[in-house]
Amino acid sequence: YQAKREGVRFARFDRTTRSLSPQQLTLEADLHYALQRQELEVFYQPIYDAGNHRVSSVEALLRWNHPRLGRVSPAEFIPLAESSGLILTIGSWVIQQACRQLSLWHEHTPGLSVSVNLSARQFRHRDLVGVVRQSLEANGLPPDCLVLEITEGILVDVPDAEQVLHEFRQLGINISLDDFGTGYSSLSYLRRFPLTHLKIDKSFLEGLEEGGTNASIVRSVVTLAHSLGLHVTAEGIETQAQADYVHAVGCNNLQGYLLARPMPAQQCSELLRAASGVMVRVG
Ligand code: C2E
Ligand code: MG
Ligand code: MG
Ligand code: MG
Repeated sequence: YQAKREGVRFARFDRTTRSLSPQQLTLEADLHYALQRQELEVFYQPIYDAGNHRVSSVEALLRWNHPRLGRVSPAEFIPLAESSGLILTIGSWVIQQACRQLSLWHEHTPGLSVSVNLSARQFRHRDLVGVVRQSLEANGLPPDCLVLEITEGILVDVPDAEQVLHEFRQLGINISLDDFGTGYSSLSYLRRFPLTHLKIDKSFLEGLEEGGTNASIVRSVVTLAHSLGLHVTAEGIETQAQADYVHAVGCNNLQGYLLARPMPAQQCSELLRAASGVMVRVG
């Protein structure tokens, strides 16, 4: 168990550099067993095509059903998974789950894509490209139905990020820059890295309907992204006014509670089948 050994080593390292509260330490200890105890589950949130209003992809979002604490938020446990190194094992599992699930969905919804979030720690690990390629192959999936979501932090912090991204692109896999606008990257990153998609962070959707700064930013980012050949997704759409606005300025995809929440695979299957894509109004 290479990843596990490495995880323990990194955990010790991190404890000295980053102080975890007693609660966090307990949570981290529990996380070591979460996978084998089958407490982890991948939820899927539909992403809609602004053009035909159908579900064009789904984002895989990890959930932890803790035996005592109930549902623990990824915002809480993903950082622990990263600092402990457990994200390597857990992250590979998410990739495999998402690919397996997508191959099942392709039986009735061909062309559907799946997005998987990656962390910096996974990017630093040399096996990442192999794990992804193998998961696609094992499930007979075309590489262009996979979107890997990365953050600006990965581009800034991981020295090999550019090389790894080129390897993914050579395989035909899509790369989405998540939470765009919240990190420390500059606009030149959009040109330098081989991205295919950009996700405007939900913090820019606040107050859209009143016009103002966010409205201008969203409109400009869409124009910029399109001129660079990138698909744009607006995430965190909660109101019809937001959906109308991002649709009007040309976002390609919409994602948010207004349209659909993250849900268990089984429920997402039903949604995909029932609607066969037909959906609520997006603008
Ligand atoms: P993210 O990748 O930016 O995912 C979007 C988050 O926004 C998700 O939170 C989703 O449930 C939430 N969301 C979707 N629509 C709306 C909306 O209309 N309003 C609001 N307020 N929120 C909305 P979630 O599932 O709690 O995940 C949080 C973060 O945890 C993700 O942010 C991602 O960075 C990380 N994460 C989740 N699963 C994984 C994973 O498998 N691997 C890694 N490395 N990170 C993950
Ligand atoms: Mg439309
Ligand atoms: Mg994401
Ligand atoms: Mg995001």
